[in-house]
Amino acid sequence: MSGPRGIAILGSTGSIGKSTLAVIALHPERFRAAVLCAQSSWQAVVQQAVEFKPDSVVLADPRAAEQARAALRSLGSATRVESGADALAAEVAGANVEMVMAAIVGAAGLLPTLAAARAGKRVLLANKEALVMSGRLLMDEVRKAKTELIPIDSEHNAIFQCMPAGYLPGAAARGVNRVILTASGGPFRSTASGKLESVTPDEACNHPKWKMGRKISVDSATLMNKGLEVIEATLLFGLPESQVNVVVHPQSLVHSLVEYADGSFLAQLGAPDMRTPIAQALAWPERVSSGVQSLDLGEIGRMDFEPPDHVRFPSIGLARAAARAGGTAPAVLNAANEVAVQAFLDRRLNFTGIAAVCDKVLQRLDASPVNELGDVLDADAAARRLASALIEPAHGALA
Ligand code: NAD
Ligand code: MG
Repeated sequence: MSGPRGIAILGSTGSIGKSTLAVIALHPERFRAAVLCAQSSWQAVVQQAVEFKPDSVVLADPRAAEQARAALRSLGSATRVESGADALAAEVAGANVEMVMAAIVGAAGLLPTLAAARAGKRVLLANKEALVMSGRLLMDEVRKAKTELIPIDSEHNAIFQCMPAGYLPGAAARGVNRVILTASGGPFRSTASGKLESVTPDEACNHPKWKMGRKISVDSATLMNKGLEVIEATLLFGLPESQVNVVVHPQSLVHSLVEYADGSFLAQLGAPDMRTPIAQALAWPERVSSGVQSLDLGEIGRMDFEPPDHVRFPSIGLARAAARAGGTAPAVLNAANEVAVQAFLDRRLNFTGIAAVCDKVLQRLDASPVNELGDVLDADAAARRLASALIEPAHGALA
């Protein structure tokens, strides 16, 4: 091996970004953080840059970049500081970068993730929104560049691990009857439907099993996260949504399953800790330690499974409808959801209003084909406009 492999981490200050740096820190001889990128949290990035000595840091916010530049200069750091979308695309395509951890939250991650694929880098995909909204575009870029995309989302990483040897996402999965995504059920799994309307952002973000950023935490509470993951699975594994099933598994130990034509079910198990899929994807096809604690099945004793409740949680059904409609429908759903989740976090929309807004936007905007990036960006913008108009003031504020 010729020195450690360079990794660009998009979203280095977030939950996935920090877990990625934790795994890299365990294996300095194998991996090196070459590029760090965040939105505006410059103090956190400066701290990471001092510890990991990347070649460059990119901050989306130019003022934050100025502050990071001044701070790193005063510390005598050799790390360059850049800002802006073009600079980010150039940094991920740099010769010092071999793999790109796509862990920006939401649609903002689409362009740099596409740039990484186009440059032929191995894409480690946590940013499911980018894949969902892109339709076939992202996987097409991966195929065209003859590179590989490895899913970080725990369910899809589990399915990837249960696929036949040599399988890579983007190809059809031979001999597979269906895949089964597990869902924890979120913090409101047992909450009566009448109480869902008045739950608060902090209650929604208090996930029973996973510690994550606020957007995906709300998605987990509405089960829209599982809906987006159904669409994600159709794109990664070349399956129709009818062959992507969901089962609620509150312990979050079985991360997903694959059913084969001969009746075999293969599952991947592990502690609910994202460092496992991150280490698997960084080292693939080898295996390295992740720092995650082992499971004691005797002590765990039991694992439970139940079907999802589509009445209290309509989001999976909305996502299935978007997957069937195809074209721009998943981008429309994703954009409406991003706007609605932000409104919920800002206390401008009730919890149950999130799915209601997504439903209305999906109904009103017809799906059209996705031939190029502009089709996706136009659909995203139209859905954001309509969702915002529906929220202000029709749905009323919580407080
Ligand atoms: P987070 O909110 O903790 O972190 C988001 C990161 O993205 C931050 O570093 C932030 O600075 C950066 N960012 C946001 N907007 C940006 C922009 N415009 N330009 C540059 N950087 C920007 O989120 P997270 O929980 O780490 O999730 C990240 C992604 O991974 C999401 O798409 C999520 O669905 C996915 N994911 C997360 C988990 C998890 O356990 N956290 C699990 C599976 C998938
Ligand atoms: Mg997941």
